Amino acid sequence: MDDHHRFETKEVHAGGNDDQHGALNTPIYATSTYEYETPTELEGDHRYSRMSEPTRDDLEAAFADLEGGEHASAFASGMAAIDAVFSLLSAGDHVVAGRNLYAETHELLTKVYADYGVELTTVDVTDADAVADAVRPETAMVYVETPTNPMLRIADIEAAAEAAHAHDAVLAVDNTFSSPALQRPLELGADIVVESMTKYLGGHSDVLAGAVAIRDDDLAERIAYYQYARGGIPSPFDCFLVRRGIRTLSARMERHCRNGRAVAEFLDDHPKVERVYYPGLESHPNHEVADRQMADFGGMVSFELAGGISEASAFVSNLEVVALAESLGGVESLAEQPATMTHQDFSEAELAEAGIPASLVRLSVGTEHEDDLLDDVGQALDAAFE
Ligand code: PLP
Repeated sequence: MDDHHRFETKEVHAGGNDDQHGALNTPIYATSTYEYETPTELEGDHRYSRMSEPTRDDLEAAFADLEGGEHASAFASGMAAIDAVFSLLSAGDHVVAGRNLYAETHELLTKVYADYGVELTTVDVTDADAVADAVRPETAMVYVETPTNPMLRIADIEAAAEAAHAHDAVLAVDNTFSSPALQRPLELGADIVVESMTKYLGGHSDVLAGAVAIRDDDLAERIAYYQYARGGIPSPFDCFLVRRGIRTLSARMERHCRNGRAVAEFLDDHPKVERVYYPGLESHPNHEVADRQMADFGGMVSFELAGGISEASAFVSNLEVVALAESLGGVESLAEQPATMTHQDFSEAELAEAGIPASLVRLSVGTEHEDDLLDDVGQALDAAFE
């Protein structure tokens, strides 16, 4: 889409459609294969759906456009997209990654890519000097999530790009918690942006998908090859759902941010809450960096209750409007307790190493009415300490 159009216009129109009947939205092309006119000539632009198909093309074009990339590849999940990014690595390569990554991303590096001979150094991504110090000549990739899951730490993307490029490494950023509506890493110097589209882009907790957006032609070609050769693609129906979700991304994000701030401020003032992690609070240690690189602060809020893991369990069990479930980014608010849910495989030592307190609760603040959310969080806190 034309560069002069603004984000909100692009998210509605980017990608366009190629439908021969003039359909406003790109239809779901439920076909695995495409006909040849002759043994050497295809009838149209597509050959076989694992390689390319129109519904996915539409989603990929929209994602590339919104992230400010030249190319995008869509995958069956965020993890499939992240795996494609790590596939750029070879034995002997070194990766510098955030210490606070999404648990499966961390495991992919430590359990799978370590066996392939990829060496990993984890760093505190909030410390730009530590990131720069960890990069060395054999470093092929710096990989950060910002904000991080679940501690909402912020990495300075421009500084991380500078550190990576000083040794000809690439910077890859997981932009899942922000979405391109709030933060566009490629515009801040990152080489690769990867995202779970299961979250804010899909927006309705009804589909799994992931994507990678890139400016560089060669890197993009390699990612597109992994997509085709490994086959971890989303179905046309999944692509349709995510593309539909993207049409309302900014509108939803505005409400997520407003509600997120309201919940964070409510918790911050509550006597039974020890500490709130929300980059929009001025007390957040990385607030200034977040303010510089994000358009707003998102709908993810983590906090520690006074007391311990049992009070946190009682709190999440007593929520009525907010559902107790993993995942994030949908219109419905969700709560999860990392120590017993997303990070249940972590030992106490691993939780401590990742800096995740046992009583931590993570909220994905949805788009419900602010007052209903505050009432619900308030009554669940009261009930947890009865
Ligand atoms: N990256 C982050 C930051 C996530 O929170 C998640 C999932 O929660 C993923 C990646 C993986 O995404 P998916 O579940 O779509 O594979």
